[in-house]
Amino acid sequence: MASQLTVPVVIIGAGQAGLSVAHYLRKFHLVAGTDFVVLDRGPDAGGAWQHRWPALRLGTAHRVNDLPGMSALGISFDTADRSRPAREVVAEYYHRYEAHFDLRVVRPVSVTSVANRGADLVVSTRSAAYGDQEISAHVLVNASGTWGAPFLPHYPGAESFAGQQVHTATFTSAEDFAGRKVVVVGGGTSAIGFLLELEGVAAELTWAARRPIDWVHTGELDLEGASAAVAAQDEAARSGRALPSIVSGTGVPVSRRIAAGIERGLLVAEPMFQAIEPHGVRWADGRFTEADAIVWATGFRPELRHLAPLRLREKAGGVTVGAGASWTDPRIFFAGYGPQASTIGAARAGRVIARQVMALL
Ligand code: FAD
Repeated sequence: MASQLTVPVVIIGAGQAGLSVAHYLRKFHLVAGTDFVVLDRGPDAGGAWQHRWPALRLGTAHRVNDLPGMSALGISFDTADRSRPAREVVAEYYHRYEAHFDLRVVRPVSVTSVANRGADLVVSTRSAAYGDQEISAHVLVNASGTWGAPFLPHYPGAESFAGQQVHTATFTSAEDFAGRKVVVVGGGTSAIGFLLELEGVAAELTWAARRPIDWVHTGELDLEGASAAVAAQDEAARSGRALPSIVSGTGVPVSRRIAAGIERGLLVAEPMFQAIEPHGVRWADGRFTEADAIVWATGFRPELRHLAPLRLREKAGGVTVGAGASWTDPRIFFAGYGPQASTIGAARAGRVIARQVMALL
């Protein structure tokens, strides 16, 4: 029998977005553990970053923005050692942040479902440490990110492939592919990062992408492109459509390392193959490329399975969200969704959502 608790506000997820909302709720004098509770499935601090592959350095990630108020701790990602694995630095800084602001994240706790019970929401949780619980809440802030919902497109023959298939979410080290023939799929920075790591380790490397790569030769993320991409995300969220890929709106910035990779012929993508066969991939023109492994760097989707009983999903494939608030159910907020799905967007979301939560209580 699940034990029962009542807490005015439940936040699902202690990544950048959830911590940012929690920070502002504290600022508005709500008490962590009593007025609001943050639940997270991860074993440690760091949100999705704790699960990212060790070779992803702080300096090779796009840019990790500071959490609001982080300067009070005398730490900043801008001055952190860029050669350290991003997962280590983020986990360490988030851990210190949670302690400093007394955010009392409860982990490891998985939210299995959220359902309606009269005027309240009932949040069902599962945890090896705390057992099964039901929490009654007036307001829910969903900040569950995307890491738990990897997107794997289907190509004919995928199930017949005799080699190994991994997704970004399960990639750990290039060494796992030593001496093997590898096809990397995807048109974003994760695919490019994997190709650079696998070069000289894998026996053969092939890159396939759905669209030609839109290289941006400014060295940094094109701000105009980025704001158009964020606007496209916002528009999709407000109309309840599935979210477009960010990379399709921003292009891929060409760093010196990437430019050198293009120059030596490593970073040259083929259009997508047509089918997968037991020992490789078949291209539209009939060519065959042998492969022992396929690395799918094909992105993620918002992780919203646990909200299914609330029936928020629109026919158009998304949930209807404006400024972080559900337009279908006023008790529900989405932090880090759509236009907020970056470390800068998630940090900003905190204030906007916390204000609306305070107005509701
Ligand atoms: P997350 O960090 O994913 O946090 C969500 C948390 O919710 C997790 O801890 C998860 O365990 C928890 N959770 C989920 N479901 C449940 C549940 N049912 N019950 C309990 N807990 C749950 N953005 C940038 O700005 N710069 C970058 O360099 C960058 N690099 C990226 C690299 C990769 C490979 C990927 C995939 C994304 C990258 N992003 C980057 C985007 C990044 O996801 C966001 O920037 C940001 O970290 C997301 O924060 P979040 O709080 O929304 O989600």
